[in-house]
Amino acid sequence: MKLFPAPVQAGIEFSAELFRKARRAVILTGAGISTPSGIPDFRSEGSGLWSRDEPLEVASLRTFRAHPEKFYEWFRPLASQIFEAIPNAAHRALAELEKAGHIHSILTQNIDMLHQKAGTMRVVELHGTLRTLSCTQCFQQVDSAPYLKPFVEHGTLPCCPHCGGLLKPDVILFGEQLPQRAWFEAQRESRTCDLMLVAGSSLEVMPVAGLPMQALDRGAHLVIINNSATYLNVRADAAIQDNVSDVIPAIAEQVLYG
Ligand SMILES: [Zn+2]
Repeated sequence: MKLFPAPVQAGIEFSAELFRKARRAVILTGAGISTPSGIPDFRSEGSGLWSRDEPLEVASLRTFRAHPEKFYEWFRPLASQIFEAIPNAAHRALAELEKAGHIHSILTQNIDMLHQKAGTMRVVELHGTLRTLSCTQCFQQVDSAPYLKPFVEHGTLPCCPHCGGLLKPDVILFGEQLPQRAWFEAQRESRTCDLMLVAGSSLEVMPVAGLPMQALDRGAHLVIINNSATYLNVRADAAIQDNVSDVIPAIAEQVLYG
């Protein structure tokens, strides 16, 4: 059992209390929950694959359209990391909380499927998914597994089985709209929850960063767990600046066995 500094321990106990009382808790997760599983934050600068002076050009829809090979060259190590990654203690603790009826849904900015791998049933993927690919010519959607393995291993670009067109992962690139159905669902979840827990997101990327505000506006409690402060820390019932992979299991333990 990890020992936390006193303010963190107090935040954990208070958050567990909020979870026990909540009737409809919704979780919003960002890249920070997956970095302990070895996945770099592909949408933020200065981390892993990005350097400060390099714009987010290669992960944009424009690059994909003009130079798909450039995009895929960049994407290959990331895809390989995602396929090998396993859920960490935070993913597992959230899955346990859901199973015990303490979580209504998880909204995630991640494309790594780690919540599902951990056993969470209700996940809204705001930035799309690597589970499927779509043809850029005929728009057919295919399961990604048979295509991404040869791509990761040999660099073979995935081509459509129907028309031979290039397949694009169903993840949201820069310059692309969020998937509409997921976005509407995320807004509904945010507006109807009575507790929102933000885990591993700095709440910097709009419009997703506005979801906790929608929850607050309707009277929900807000808990934020992130390594750095967010713009909403001042309005949160509890704001814990520590590692999600330590804090979330500690909260879950309190809720389930405390
Ligand atoms: Zn096609």
